[in-house]
Amino acid sequence: MTFAPSRGLSRRRLLATGAALLAAPALGPALAQGVSDADVVIIGGGAAGIAAARKVAQAGRSHLLLEAGAALGGRARTETAFGLPVDLGAGSFGRDPEGLSAAARGSDLPLTTLAGERLFVEGHDARESAYDAFAAALGRDRREIVTAADAGRDVAVARVLPPPGPWSASAGACLGPLGLGKELDALSTLDLALRAVVPDDLSSPIGVGALLEGLGARLNRQTHAPVNLITNNGRFHTVSVTGQRATIRARAIVLAVPAPVIAAGAIRFNPVLPPRLLAAFRAFPGGALEQVAFLLPGNPLGLQPDERVLATRPDALAPTARLRGRVNGTDLHVLTFGGAPARQIAEKGEAAALTLARDFLARSFGGGAGAAITEVAASRWTSDPLIRGAIASAMPGQGGLRRLFTEPVQNRIFLAGEYAALEDWGTLAGAWASGEIAAAKALRVLGDGPA
Ligand SMILES: Cc1cc2nc3c(=O)[nH]c(=O)nc-3n(C[C@H](O)[C@H](O)[C@H](O)COP(=O)(O)OP(=O)(O)OC[C@H]3O[C@@H](n4cnc5c(N)ncnc54)[C@H](O)[C@@H]3O)c2cc1C
Repeated sequence: MTFAPSRGLSRRRLLATGAALLAAPALGPALAQGVSDADVVIIGGGAAGIAAARKVAQAGRSHLLLEAGAALGGRARTETAFGLPVDLGAGSFGRDPEGLSAAARGSDLPLTTLAGERLFVEGHDARESAYDAFAAALGRDRREIVTAADAGRDVAVARVLPPPGPWSASAGACLGPLGLGKELDALSTLDLALRAVVPDDLSSPIGVGALLEGLGARLNRQTHAPVNLITNNGRFHTVSVTGQRATIRARAIVLAVPAPVIAAGAIRFNPVLPPRLLAAFRAFPGGALEQVAFLLPGNPLGLQPDERVLATRPDALAPTARLRGRVNGTDLHVLTFGGAPARQIAEKGEAAALTLARDFLARSFGGGAGAAITEVAASRWTSDPLIRGAIASAMPGQGGLRRLFTEPVQNRIFLAGEYAALEDWGTLAGAWASGEIAAAKALRVLGDGPA
C-alpha cells in the first residue's frame, strides 16, 4: 500500500516458489486444551488475534481464539481463483524484524521479496524523470500534511495540499483512495502525519492469507463463533457466542475485531463502553479497498513475475487502481481498487468489477488489454458485516483519538488490530504488532497466578 519508486527491472526473484509448506509454528504447552474457560480469550482471528493468541500460548497460559468467520486470517484471505491461490485481501506486507515476517520465518513458511512499484505513463514504461516528478509531488503533499499537524491543525487532508500541479492527482490518489480507501476530504491531517509505514516488500507464494492460517494452525481456536456479548463479572469477564448456550470465562480479553464492527454495535458490553471510547470507534470508519483478480494470458503488458505497477498520467486524471501482475509468475493479475470504484464493487459484485477492470486496463494500457479479460474474482470487504472496510482511519479533526485504543477497557480488555497501532496503522504488520502488545498487557494482568 506504500509507494516505493523503482525501475522494477533489477528485481530479485522469488525466494520460494514450491508447494505450500504449512508448517506448525513453534508454540508452548498450552495448546491441545478443550477449554471453555481460558486465561485469555482472544476475539477475532485476523493478524492481530493470531499474534495475540500465539504470544499467550508461548507464555504457557491458556487461550481461546474465537473467530466469527469460517477461517483465520481476517482481511488477509487467500482463495482459489482460476485454479490458483490468490489474495483477495492484503497481498503484501512490510518487513518487521521481530514481528510477522520473523514469525513466518520461524515457522518455515515461505516468503517472497517484492520489488518496488513500477510506473507506467499512458501505457509506457516511465522515464527516470517521471519517477522523480511523482516522488516530488508525493513529498510535497506529505510535507504540507505534517506542517499542518505540527501547527495543531487537524483538518481534512484536502484542505492543506498545495495547489494542483503536475502529478498531484496521482500523488493524491496514492495517499487517499488507493492508500487508505478514502477521499482526501475524509482523512485527518493529524492521523496521516503520525503514520510511518515501511514499504510493503514481502509476500508469500502460498498467499498471505494462507501464511496467516499457517501461523494460526496450532492455536486453540473456534471458527464460526461470533461473540455477541462481553460481561464484566468483577474478577473475570464472560464472553457469549451466538448459538452457544454456555458462556466462556476469561481472566483477560484481547478484542481484535475491526473498529467499524465495534462501532456498529455487533458486540454488546455489560457495562457499556465508556462514551468517549465509543465516540472514538465511530470516528474511525473503514475505507474501501477491493481486489479484482483475472487471467491475462501471454503477458500482453510485458511484466516481470509479481511486478507491481502504478499506471498513471501527469495530468488531472488520477489512477483508480494499482496492479500486481503475473502473480507467482502465472497469468494471474490482481487490481486493487480504492475509494468510489471499490465501493461500487462491494455493492454490485463481480459484474461491476469486470467492467471496472476492463475500463482500467483499456485506459491505462490500450483497448486490447481490457478486452482480454473475460472473468474476474473480486472481494467485498466493504460490505462484509464482519469487516466493514479495508482500513480504519480518523475523520478530520479526530486524529488524536487513536491513542484511546491503546488503553485498557474495564481493566481486563485490551484492544488490538490495524486501527490500534499508533504508527503503522492500517497495515498487516501493524495489526500483528498490536496483537502482540495487547497480549503482553493481558499477561501482565494475570500476574503470577496459576497457569
Ligand atoms: C483489499 C485490501 C488490501 C490490503 N492490502 C494491504 C497490504 O498490501 N499491506 C498491508 O499491510 N495491509 C493491507 N491491507 C490491510 C490489512 O489487511 C489489515 O490491516 C489487517 O489484515 C487487519 O488485521 P486485523 O487483525 O486488525 O483485522 P482483521 O484481519 O479484519 O481480523 C478481524 C477478525 O475479527 C473477526 N470478527 C468480526 N466480528 C467478530 C465477532 N463478533 N466475534 C468474533 N470474531 C469477529 C473477523 O471475521 C476477522 O476475521 C489490505 C486490506 C484490504 C481489505
